[in-house]
Amino acid sequence: MHRRKFLQQAALGAAAVSTFSFCQSAEETQQSDAAATSFPEKLHPKLGIALLGLGSYSRGQIAPALQRTRHCELRGIVTGTPDKIPVWQQEYGIPDANVYSYDTIGAMRDNADLDVVYVIVPTGLHARYAIAAAEAGKHVWCEKPMAMTVAECQQIIDACEANGVKLSIGYRMQHEPNTRTLIEYAQTKPYGEITGIRAEAGYCCLQNSTWRFDRELGGGALYDMGVYAINALRYATGMEPVEVISARSSTNRPELFTEVDETTEFQLRFPNGLIGYGKTSVGESTNILRVDCEWGWYELSPMQQYNGVGGRTSDGKVFAPIEGKQQTLQMDNDALAILEDRPVLVPGMEGLRDIAIVNAIREAARTGQSVRI
Ligand code: NAD
Repeated sequence: MHRRKFLQQAALGAAAVSTFSFCQSAEETQQSDAAATSFPEKLHPKLGIALLGLGSYSRGQIAPALQRTRHCELRGIVTGTPDKIPVWQQEYGIPDANVYSYDTIGAMRDNADLDVVYVIVPTGLHARYAIAAAEAGKHVWCEKPMAMTVAECQQIIDACEANGVKLSIGYRMQHEPNTRTLIEYAQTKPYGEITGIRAEAGYCCLQNSTWRFDRELGGGALYDMGVYAINALRYATGMEPVEVISARSSTNRPELFTEVDETTEFQLRFPNGLIGYGKTSVGESTNILRVDCEWGWYELSPMQQYNGVGGRTSDGKVFAPIEGKQQTLQMDNDALAILEDRPVLVPGMEGLRDIAIVNAIREAARTGQSVRI
């Protein structure tokens, strides 16, 4: 356990390190949310979190993960479905005063009990509600993908800056310790320069969604899952791609995928000439980040899953999966950035850059031409 704790500490990035290095007993890391339990508890009050959108991710992942945080408390909800209100109030002890509809977000300005609004609705609605939350003076946590266009992403960033609130994008992988090790490798280059990289994120099979088949609301593989592959290609190289060399979208279920992609493959060119391959699908299961280097290779497989993210290297190192909810660690990291007024680990520009690439890939797939990013 000591060794694991050391590896976890080493793996966490700069933003998390200042607090994580106050690790306590080894026994504490055996608890299920290993990394999150190592935060010093008494230094800060808890932040009041309001979840905007009470769908499957809120209900199945975020609300339970919030119960394990040290620095957050689920205190509010924003919903358009009245039936859900008593259920959530009863389960999480949410007072009437902290229940809002999508039309009353502005009234949160007068509610000191709530510090953060976590936007967890369909992607096409992120910009509208993230901006409304910022204008109500609340810090914004916005789910991935950040928004539909670069312009929308920029509007969210601007609204948060103008209102003096922090903005974090819900890229849980960037908080995950094994992923952080790979992010560090991009700088330390333990296997030499990267010569090839491949990131694939997909699941089988999307069905029965109200909005994931809808272009306007942000449906399709590229928005939903593609940002994992794109983000991984960026964080594992530490570089920003300059060109989509080629892209191709396809579907095996044309009756369902009439306006969005089911599977998309793409190649990105990085400034040093490196070519990255990406694949995303909501019709095929695939989950790997593989990095080939001058003197060896390393990979995470699965590279983006709620649990069990792990991998290995060419010389026999193992990235053992870390127990606990990534979302717990993510929200505690983001809360500490607010409480200690320091930069967040995953700022708005992280989301914006991915959306610029998503849209360049879409254009390349549509035109059959390469596209500058
Ligand atoms: P969902 O369909 O289960 O829930 C969507 C919620 O938004 C519902 O409560 C619905 O009532 C509400 N909503 C409000 N206006 C709506 C409208 N016009 N159309 C449809 N729904 C509307 O979706 P989800 O899986 O919870 O995804 C929500 C967000 O969370 C998306 O941005 C998605 O990309 C993100 N997400 C992230 C992860 C992750 O691992 N980070 C995982 C799943 C989803």
